[in-house]
Amino acid sequence: MENTKNLIYLDNAATTQVDEEVFEAMKPYFCELYANPSSVYSFAGEAAFAVDKARKQIAHLIHAKEREIYFTGGGSESDNWTLKSVAEQYAKKGKHIITTKIEHHAILHTAEYLEKHGYEVTYLNVDAEGRISLKELEAAIRPDTILISVMAANNEIGTIQPLKEIGKIAKAHDVLFHTDAVQAFGHIPLDVDEMNIDLLSASGHKIHGPKGIGILYVRKGVKISSFIHGGAQERKKRAGTHNVPGIVGMGKAAELAERRMQASMKQISELRDYTIDRIEKEIPYCRLNGDRKDRLPNNINFCFRFIEGESLLIMLDAKGICASSGSACTSGSLDPSHVLLAIGLPHEIAHGSLRMTLSEATTKEELDKVVDELKGIIERLRSMSPLYEDFVKEQVSA
Ligand SMILES: *Cc1c(COP(=O)(O)O)cnc(C)c1O
Repeated sequence: MENTKNLIYLDNAATTQVDEEVFEAMKPYFCELYANPSSVYSFAGEAAFAVDKARKQIAHLIHAKEREIYFTGGGSESDNWTLKSVAEQYAKKGKHIITTKIEHHAILHTAEYLEKHGYEVTYLNVDAEGRISLKELEAAIRPDTILISVMAANNEIGTIQPLKEIGKIAKAHDVLFHTDAVQAFGHIPLDVDEMNIDLLSASGHKIHGPKGIGILYVRKGVKISSFIHGGAQERKKRAGTHNVPGIVGMGKAAELAERRMQASMKQISELRDYTIDRIEKEIPYCRLNGDRKDRLPNNINFCFRFIEGESLLIMLDAKGICASSGSACTSGSLDPSHVLLAIGLPHEIAHGSLRMTLSEATTKEELDKVVDELKGIIERLRSMSPLYEDFVKEQVSA
């Protein structure tokens, strides 16, 4: 993979470049093998075979069975489907759901929707590193709890949750365990059996696959409602003609992610730590957000005091650097990130956040250039801040 133009693309948590190999695998399913895989003639068989193959590739990556993988329109759909359908199917047992304060909005807004419809939701706190407390989780479980939904890794600060321990607790209390694994899937090892995961959401475009395709893993025996009514696709649970090129692309991306995972984790996390180290040494008054060790290999997230995240992004953009202030969803709103507030940062500090998410294509040269630019930009922005001026005076007189 190569980066487009002269851009330095450091927003791989928002989306990734489609891998050439993935694109090549998808191509035949547009103009040549365009049949509807549900048709009976043999021409359709090739498309059906391709869908089956992708299902195998994806199942393999998380140690699931093929028939436990349902294709969806992306991570948001898988999250919506999980919450709404577990709520419906298990309402007789109870109407209580446990999730966390740092979930993606696809979970949080669905949970809020359910609250309006008679469900009760507990939002677990996280510590300063963004990790939930297993004690708090266990204490939150009630006889009417039907679902625990905890994300595998956070999309803003990269913290990885103790999935195996959460799965153990869920199983001991006979409560279903769902994980939004959109950021973890294909990036770090996941094993639905070892981790006692009952439902898992993943998305194609976060792993160098195409956009608009995702999966929901549903353990055999777990009851789910039909999310889209219509044809008999996806075991009658998710109607609509299969997005064959998208499915083939996500399957290929999963296969490549599995094959490259070990090498890629090592390569990317070394660059991550190198960059974190440089920033901490060379830029004063910064704070690394997220856990230092239990962290996605590609995630860097800092707060810089006396800096406004938006201004930082605009100035980086002028240098051809694509980064984010935490999550794509906060743009257009002036509220600081709910994740940064949940880890205990005050508003004014949470506003000065910068997320940089790497890929296999990211080079050390690029990161060196970014840190160099960042130093200059932060110095300039601070020199314009009266608050910073006061702060420096206080430091001197103290
Ligand atoms: C990107 C993302 C989603 C949404 O996935 P889409 O495929 O874009 O709908 C959900 N959860 C997390 C953690 C994400 O990072």
